[in-house]
Amino acid sequence: MNKIIEGGCLCGAVRYRVTGEPLARTLCHCRTCRRASGAPSLAWVVFRAGDVAFVGAQPTQFRSSPDVIRTFCARCGTPLTYQRPSKPGTLDITTVTLDHPEDFPPTKEIWLEHKLAWERANDALEQFPRSSVPTQDD
Ligand SMILES: [Zn+2]
Ligand SMILES: [Zn+2]
Repeated sequence: MNKIIEGGCLCGAVRYRVTGEPLARTLCHCRTCRRASGAPSLAWVVFRAGDVAFVGAQPTQFRSSPDVIRTFCARCGTPLTYQRPSKPGTLDITTVTLDHPEDFPPTKEIWLEHKLAWERANDALEQFPRSSVPTQDD
């Protein structure tokens, strides 16, 4: 199977292509994802970094924690990726920037400790108070 997954930012300046299968799919309630997106929660698809290629403009980087680099479109502000420099093998992409986000529903809901009281948890997902990876911060 050699399906190509594509996506990009709101204005279309940044586009990406993924040639591999997702490794994980999460819905994150952490404070940092919320601030970075301006939304009550943020869905992610994790890919092998080597499977992702940006076409057109490169996204702009912002280091949101000592070991977290987030990127966004410099023109329209769409949040695009999350990566830990200590784990360069994986790259998380914001699910809703995919051209077909319905095909990539989250299976895990993470950082429920930070969830806003008025935001509802999804009982259909596997739930974690913090990261689904032990000892990882947001
Ligand atoms: Zn843009
Ligand atoms: Zn998060």
